[in-house]
Amino acid sequence: MHAAFPDFRLGTVLATSFTGTLSERHGNAVERIPTPQRLVDWLAVNGLAVDSCTTAQLDRARELRESIHAAATAAAIQDALPAAAVQVINDCSVQGRAAAVLTPEGKRRWQLSSASRVEDALSVIAADAISIIAGERDGKLALCASPTCQAAFFDTSQSRTRRWCDMNTCGNRQKKARFNANHPRTPDQRSDRYTP
Ligand SMILES: [Zn+2]
Repeated sequence: MHAAFPDFRLGTVLATSFTGTLSERHGNAVERIPTPQRLVDWLAVNGLAVDSCTTAQLDRARELRESIHAAATAAAIQDALPAAAVQVINDCSVQGRAAAVLTPEGKRRWQLSSASRVEDALSVIAADAISIIAGERDGKLALCASPTCQAAFFDTSQSRTRRWCDMNTCGNRQKKARFNANHPRTPDQRSDRYTP
């Protein structure tokens, strides 16, 4: 049980789910992998199970995370990619020995070279980041419209007009703020009357 730790935000894109383990970067930041064990938990949920993680490996993971965030943000606003971030992403990608294997059910699964190889898991995340930043996949990098978030996310909507990294958090909060602005409270209107 890790009830004391913040939940994970699960997305469908590995690299941006990973950058989402630090949220509200421009507000009161929430660190969702505060301990090595929480990184182990996150990797398990994302099909990259390892049996342990050291503090150094967690530090490396966070360095990769912030590098992906920096590079994806630059790509979203069509800025030059920060060289230091690109270096970290490439180093992590090169250092891994993960292999894609096909299950009998026809699904892809990642096989790490050993269960203690957090580096292998990071290489899969780095390669995923490379594929979205390089524009290889169907979708577009964009920044969350929430001023306290501004997370880079991968928009796969048909119209490419998604505004928030996550509808259930940033999107909902924005909707609520707009509702409150358009509906000033009167004495007989209580704040709990709006249920999203
Ligand atoms: Zn957001």
